[in-house]
Amino acid sequence: MEKLGIYIHIPFCIKKCDYCDFVSVKPNEEMIERYINSLINEMKIYSKLIGGYLVDSIFIGGGTPSSIDIKYIYRLFEILNNSFNIASDSEITIEVNPGTIDNKKIKAYKENGINRISLGVQSLNDKILYNIGRIHNKEDIINTIKLIKLNGFDNLNTDLMIGLPGQTLPDVINSLEQIIELKPTHISLYSLIIEEGTKLYELEKNGKLILPSEDEERLMYHDAKEFLEENGYLQYEISNFSQNGFECKHNLKYWTLKPYIGLGLNSHSNIWNYRYWNYSNFTDYNEALNRGSLPISNKEFISTKSRITEFMILGIRLNSGINREEFYKEFGTDIDYFYKDAIQKNKDLGLIYEDGRSIKLTKKGLDFSNIVELDFYI
Ligand code: SF4
Repeated sequence: MEKLGIYIHIPFCIKKCDYCDFVSVKPNEEMIERYINSLINEMKIYSKLIGGYLVDSIFIGGGTPSSIDIKYIYRLFEILNNSFNIASDSEITIEVNPGTIDNKKIKAYKENGINRISLGVQSLNDKILYNIGRIHNKEDIINTIKLIKLNGFDNLNTDLMIGLPGQTLPDVINSLEQIIELKPTHISLYSLIIEEGTKLYELEKNGKLILPSEDEERLMYHDAKEFLEENGYLQYEISNFSQNGFECKHNLKYWTLKPYIGLGLNSHSNIWNYRYWNYSNFTDYNEALNRGSLPISNKEFISTKSRITEFMILGIRLNSGINREEFYKEFGTDIDYFYKDAIQKNKDLGLIYEDGRSIKLTKKGLDFSNIVELDFYI
């Protein structure tokens, strides 16, 4: 039976973080109620379409899924369990913000079969957390992790960020030292990107934002990577590190082109040779589902060429790299037919190398992966 991942988007946050351009709003109860009803309708439509799949990963992301009342979590799981064929060893993740969680919610997650928590930490420096508009402080983070552990969750991701306003290299290492003391199984390490429309974008435009330089930010990345690897967290993707066996099954689906569907506002799906995405405004999304239709805003057919490009671009970001045999198995053609020159060029630039039959980024290539990727478009 073919495996499937399901992503469920909860687009609600108590307050917008200063760097965030995700689709999320501060809701009222009526808005949440209407949205959950729409999500349930979306699940029911899909249940008739994907009977042949075995769901082996579910990811509830946001926004802030932990901001909604647990009665909605119970409702969502009741319908999920009735609508899909969910494997007993599925990875089921929920994103949690330390400012919106309590013991009752964590217990409810456990009761509903959630077995992985992804915690938005970003930093363990209170001043930096304040600089980026997070609603929690270091103490909230530590208390939340303790609660999660007390409730028997043994698979925990913590998201951390580098390149933040006011952040220094010792700050990054200090946050990592404190985090690994709390023994998460997985750590994601993202670089701050200043997106248009955010508060940080306005501050930067007006010359009021002090950010680490590009060189400092790269140093943070490489030192953090080294620190994590020395402490048993193996890098398996540019921004992701885990203890052995705790790689995120769901995210690996995105990076290895496996089928998944996205439910909720602005969610993306990749299945049946199509890539498509949902409406990003509540009215269109809710109205489509009220009419009994999937809330698809746009879709594109994934041609073989586009699949090959994605295979390369996503594959090169993985530590395992792009395997020549796997490429042949997937596309029935030798990788050199499309990429001989691109591979040679990037090898000469010192950005990639061949490790046995796999093509991987060098240390320098980790900083210039976007340049390597440009050569993979066909
Ligand atoms: S909690 Fe996450 S989704 Fe919500 S505003 Fe902050 S970064 Fe964005």
